[in-house]
Amino acid sequence: MFTALLPPGTPFEIRASPGRRLGVFATKDIPAKSCIFREEALFVIKRPFNMIGPEDVDAAYRQLDSRKQALFKSLVEYERHQEGQKHFFPQVEAFKRNQFDVSGQMHDYDQPIPHAQGLFLISSRLNHSCIPNAVFPRIQPKTGHGYRPAVLLALRPIAIGEEILFDYDPAHAYLTAKQRRAVPYWKFTCTCAACDDNYPQRVESDMRRALLRGLHYLIHRRDVPECSRLKPPVLQNATSGRPDPNTIAMWQAISGYIAEAEGLAMLAIYFFYEALKIMISVSGSTAASNRGLKLAVVWGEKFLAISETLHPDAVEGVGAVEQLMAVFKSMIDGKT
Ligand SMILES: [Zn+2]
Repeated sequence: MFTALLPPGTPFEIRASPGRRLGVFATKDIPAKSCIFREEALFVIKRPFNMIGPEDVDAAYRQLDSRKQALFKSLVEYERHQEGQKHFFPQVEAFKRNQFDVSGQMHDYDQPIPHAQGLFLISSRLNHSCIPNAVFPRIQPKTGHGYRPAVLLALRPIAIGEEILFDYDPAHAYLTAKQRRAVPYWKFTCTCAACDDNYPQRVESDMRRALLRGLHYLIHRRDVPECSRLKPPVLQNATSGRPDPNTIAMWQAISGYIAEAEGLAMLAIYFFYEALKIMISVSGSTAASNRGLKLAVVWGEKFLAISETLHPDAVEGVGAVEQLMAVFKSMIDGKT
């Protein structure tokens, strides 16, 4: 049912993925920085994911035109076929297995959980990788309906025949392969290259991800929220005092370098951006040393260099970073 929905010129096909259900595979070479696909939600439910029940899906379904109702029915049938008859509310299960957050919120631990989930027939066919070659950035501008479309962008060149994969869960950047395998709420075992026993960078990859989790704890004084249910737990409430902002900025930047080395470009620019935000907050005070400002310029250049490798829609804040660097540079000049 899914292949018939692909617009002409779509650079991928949907077919069985070894060891998984369906997957999305490139049918031509896709260059880096490409926009691969764009899809509007079939419908949206304005409820927190965990609270969506049969009455919500029912109400949304009744508002659809007959074509969309038929598509959703086919999806429920597809999921029922894949999953067997084990779900009491197959419509809810089908919705939850095929939804993305469409509220347009940036990923931010301090933001309240956004309440808008959209159903996507094609985008939901993509499988997960812990070292993805594509991304659905969360910063897409909202459309006329007020909701974010699913926009799939290439993170690097994707060869013909290669499966197109994105990261389902931000927590994976902070977990070793063994920990990722033990995530209790996952319904599958990841078979991506980074989770393969023969991954040549296994030891380095595990060290980098463990370091990122440790640095997250030192920076925020709490575990990565999505990791906090896992064993072994990281201490939840730090007892030591908060380090000075320059130190935290340094840890953010180190996290950026580690994420870049791990091949997680989106996460890397997030960390460099966070480091720069801290440097802005201290730049007006005596805490800003010439050395700190020079470091901030280096981090800004790093942010811009990684951004250059990505589709412009994947990155927010390029203009702001360019302005900041000009400010930092002028302050350095003023101080010397
Ligand atoms: Zn994996």
